[in-house]
Amino acid sequence: MTMLRSFDPASGDLVWEGESAGADAVAAALLRARHAFPAWRALPVETRVAVAGRYRDALEARKDEIARIISRETGKPLWETQSEVASMIGKVGLSIAAQAERAGEKRSAMPFGEAVLRHRPHGVMAVLGPFNFPGHLPNGHIVPALIAGNTVVFKPSEMTPATGAAMAECWAQALADHPFVFQCIQGGRETGEALVAGHIDGLLFTGSAGAGAHFRRVFADRPDVILALELGGNNPLVVWDAEDVEEAAAVVVQSAFITTGQRCSCARRLIVPDSVFGSALVDAVAALARRISIGAWDESPEPWIGPLISDAAARSARARVDDLSGRGAKVILPFTGVEGRSDAFVTPGMLDVTGTFVPDEEIFAPVLQVSRVADFDAAMAAANNTRFGLSAGFVSADDALWERFALESRAGVVNRNRPTTGAAGSMPFGGLGESGNHRPSAYYAADYCAYPVASFEAGHAGGNMGAISDRLRA
Ligand code: NAD
Repeated sequence: MTMLRSFDPASGDLVWEGESAGADAVAAALLRARHAFPAWRALPVETRVAVAGRYRDALEARKDEIARIISRETGKPLWETQSEVASMIGKVGLSIAAQAERAGEKRSAMPFGEAVLRHRPHGVMAVLGPFNFPGHLPNGHIVPALIAGNTVVFKPSEMTPATGAAMAECWAQALADHPFVFQCIQGGRETGEALVAGHIDGLLFTGSAGAGAHFRRVFADRPDVILALELGGNNPLVVWDAEDVEEAAAVVVQSAFITTGQRCSCARRLIVPDSVFGSALVDAVAALARRISIGAWDESPEPWIGPLISDAAARSARARVDDLSGRGAKVILPFTGVEGRSDAFVTPGMLDVTGTFVPDEEIFAPVLQVSRVADFDAAMAAANNTRFGLSAGFVSADDALWERFALESRAGVVNRNRPTTGAAGSMPFGGLGESGNHRPSAYYAADYCAYPVASFEAGHAGGNMGAISDRLRA
């Protein structure tokens, strides 16, 4: 038996302990999900919507407790995890609206009867979640998948099993009359591999680009399996001009350092003109970043950011920063540990990489790489010089330049004078290139949770002979 444990990255305290699901347990869960599918699919959508409503009530009743669980497991401050749970609750209403709008039923009259558009669920969906929003992101797959009539087997990140377990308790309450429609299995990579290798009809994945590329290969010859990949990015933020440098710096700091840089949409690359304004902006960003309060999730006053997810994550980010320095990047703001804290705590770092060859990789930590460019053409080229394409940001009051940025940016989220992390559940969320596979999530999750079926329908077979009878006689 393999045990799984999660720890508070701030204190090192044990948060959750339990058994990892082995291959047999995963196969058994998938079989139960398959048996549960026909009855769940056959229910009227209103019944599934009512179940989702009960799940929302269960979350609502435990929202403070669940926020604390997420904070303990991820180190994120309570203000942030409270907003994460609010997003999970809000997702239910958004998913109901999206289902009706994008995946409902439409009937149009035809001379012979009706043309009917319906959407059908795929079957058994595997959901793999990341650690950084361990509630909100898998929730964003699970709620629409269940409303559409799929059954779900969910494996939370191995870093956040307690969050997954709390979600599973809420679903168990909501689905008391519908056993095995939703199941949560715990475990690490091996459990995930067993799930992906099992008999599934879809894999809904939010996580790293490396794992996403692996799944693309695994399912290359499986067109029957729907694959929704929500992956990482190496996101650019171009700050071109601003009347108020402090305000522009605030956009950058929120883009790059919120959630200790552990948001997929965080800005990783700051592109500025090689000018007096560019230098003033970089100085203002560094000054503001130095003021960021860092602490444990339950400290008072509340910190703005907590630690990284683990000591190992901090070590790996530091190695990446050392590599950049070795390539010639100049330190603007050192990326260091925090005295008297666990190794997972780090300070925001900034490096000037102008003229340095840097690998096109996501550093999932508060590390911002600054490039100074000669003109707007160079800024645009630098912004798009990535194999990823999740988010991109532009700071400027110039409408014409914004039009160009919006037109030419290769990204799924392109914001102006707002942080790159700004996103809404009422909009699609997904990326191009190595950031996804053109199946955006958030509001558009309804699209990958069901497939459209077009039908011509007549009440009886009369009228068909008339269309061919002349030719038959000839
Ligand atoms: P990860 O890829 O390491 O793990 C995600 C999940 O997949 C975990 O449950 C893990 O156990 C499982 N997994 C990983 N490799 C697997 C394999 N080969 N077979 C089966 N299961 C496997 O990601 P993470 O470190 O938890 O999350 C951070 C990453 O997620 C970052 O790259 C971030 O940018 C990305 N992310 C993307 C979005 C988005 O919406 N685009 C949102 C949040 C995070």
